[in-house]
Amino acid sequence: MKDSSCIFCKIANGEIPSSTLYEDEDFRVILDLGPASRGHALILPKEHFADVCALPEAWAAKVLPLAARIGAAMKKALGCEGFNLVQNNGEAAGQTVFHFHMHIIPRYADGPQMVSWTPGESTPQELAQTAEAIRAAL
Ligand code: 5GP
Ligand code: ZN
Repeated sequence: MKDSSCIFCKIANGEIPSSTLYEDEDFRVILDLGPASRGHALILPKEHFADVCALPEAWAAKVLPLAARIGAAMKKALGCEGFNLVQNNGEAAGQTVFHFHMHIIPRYADGPQMVSWTPGESTPQELAQTAEAIRAAL
């Protein structure tokens, strides 16, 4: 299903032009308009799924191999030393476009700085309680 009000549905299906790196029957991979670094790309499914929880397993299974392929090409073509795969789900997590997408962000020797957090503290009891709560919801 497409969502006629969704900009990523329009981009993924070619109704709005984009800098496309790769396309197949299921996905389009484009350059991000506001790149964190040179080459920052987005994998977009051509069907509308709001986030990873809505993405069927058969689609999800194709995303990581595609991300690895694009990342490897970035290392060859752009000379980045590595890349981050980032995938935001929900407003609280920084998702701004509610059509599933995976960011592929090249990392160069001089940056960018990103995806960091200050390690907190835990006790074995807290970890056990948290793990149990999530396990019970699976
Ligand atoms: P999110 O924060 O939802 O994980 O990421 C949305 C990303 O989409 C942002 O990095 C933003 O720059 C990018 N973006 C938003 N609108 C457009 C657009 O119209 N074209 C392209 N190429 N990227 C977009
Ligand atoms: Zn969409």
